[in-house]
Amino acid sequence: MAVPGKVAAFRLPPLPTVGEIIKLFRLKAQKQLSQNFLLDLRLTDKIVRQAGELKNTHVCEVGPGPGGITRSILSAGVEELLLIEKDARFIPGLQMLSEAAPGKVCIVHGDILTYKMDKAFPKHLTKNWEDEPPDIHIIGNLPFSVSTPLIIKWLENVSKKDGPFIYGRTQMTLTFQKEVAERLTANPGAKQRSRLSIMSQHLCTVENCFVIPGQAFVPKPEVDVAVVHFTPLVQPKIQQPFELVEKVVQSVFQFRRKYCFRGIETLFPESGRLKRTEQLMMTANVDPTLRPFQLSMSHFRNLCNTYRKMCDEDPSLFVYNYREELRQKKKMRHYLKSTSQPEQT
Ligand code: SAM
Repeated sequence: MAVPGKVAAFRLPPLPTVGEIIKLFRLKAQKQLSQNFLLDLRLTDKIVRQAGELKNTHVCEVGPGPGGITRSILSAGVEELLLIEKDARFIPGLQMLSEAAPGKVCIVHGDILTYKMDKAFPKHLTKNWEDEPPDIHIIGNLPFSVSTPLIIKWLENVSKKDGPFIYGRTQMTLTFQKEVAERLTANPGAKQRSRLSIMSQHLCTVENCFVIPGQAFVPKPEVDVAVVHFTPLVQPKIQQPFELVEKVVQSVFQFRRKYCFRGIETLFPESGRLKRTEQLMMTANVDPTLRPFQLSMSHFRNLCNTYRKMCDEDPSLFVYNYREELRQKKKMRHYLKSTSQPEQT
């Protein structure tokens, strides 16, 4: 769990307010890009405190926009702040902040989904995976359409110890739509338990820190927002490759409301499906009549370990794709229908 840090270790010189910057540079939020800004510095301080002690650390802020969270990060006394912003309109306002904190800020006009974070920080900050997390943090309030694919990509990076995690167990403090945050942190039995719960919790300690009501943003989004803190675990709870865990978890949750064996079946080709499903469930000691949301992390671990053994014995198993099989069958039915002769009367 992150120990809430202090803000205000560094005093920025007098600056226009975030609201004034928005007016000065005509930074009207673009609704189609889901831009919702935080102008209240007490709130941005509260988000930044969730990251822990930031004094003398290196921080990457994703999607700084008009710079509310950026100011709070700088006030926390960071050593270096890397800003990655996709929308060029924000760059002049961020440059103003950079001048107010000489030598600390590096601005990148780019897309976080393609930016290579493995070269972003000095190599000497690297820590062994088993040690305490490095003095590197990622913080961001991104559009929801970006934050969910991004966290999946970063979880894959955690599992492979690459990308931002080449430096060790880099911590992340990110915002999500409240419902997504609930899925990320849901326990077994909770109705929000989903693919995201397993994928995140098997690799990280995930903490749902607090909810920011929609009305705190300008313009106000349709939904509430939650701040989530991630610390990669020293030892993942499931010690199998990311792709294998993802395949098993995705299959289990394919039919959320049905018994879990319905989803697990889809791991196997039609011929021998029943036999192999029974073999997997018995060896993994999973009651087939549990619903997907009732399965614990150790159920998922057993399923992944057993499925791995089955794939080692029959390597064609891992490449089997149930959805692709359905698509092919549909195509074939369609073809047969279109080529069949009308009946003679
Ligand atoms: N962080 C600011 C705040 O809290 O007021 C702005 C938040 S706004 C919801 C999201 C910001 O992320 C915008 O500035 C937007 O341009 C930026 N953004 C969106 N997609 C991005 C991407 N793929 N890479 C980097 N920045 C992105």
